[in-house]
Amino acid sequence: MKEKTTSATGQTPPASQNGTSKYFKPEDFRCRCGCGLNNISPELVAILDKVRETAGIALRITSGSRCAKHNEAVGGESDSAHLTGLAADIAIASSHERYLVSKAAIAVGVDRMGIGINLVHLDIDRDKSKEVAWLYA
Ligand SMILES: [Zn+2]
Repeated sequence: MKEKTTSATGQTPPASQNGTSKYFKPEDFRCRCGCGLNNISPELVAILDKVRETAGIALRITSGSRCAKHNEAVGGESDSAHLTGLAADIAIASSHERYLVSKAAIAVGVDRMGIGINLVHLDIDRDKSKEVAWLYA
């Protein structure tokens, strides 16, 4: 079925309804191995738009969708939320950026995050523990 791109009043619906993003392109979420996979969750993309808006800084996605082969190559967990398109890693260049992104993610309701030297991982996998923030050693 073809998606409606405008409502009856002629207004563009929010990204959460039509799967498009204000800030991100589909390419941003494609598997980095070159296989072409992009199974990113439209719900996650809508949440990332809100995180971007709230944080007030440009966000660069370093990892979105991952095929099993690529996930293994980068040392991802065997049940990583990247495999199901429910996770994205955001590049972090300073402690201030890490603060802004983490604060924004929590503010918009993200309840699973991983913190690293140069990334913040956000995921919405509801089959996993909630209200957790782990570290990448
Ligand atoms: Zn791949």
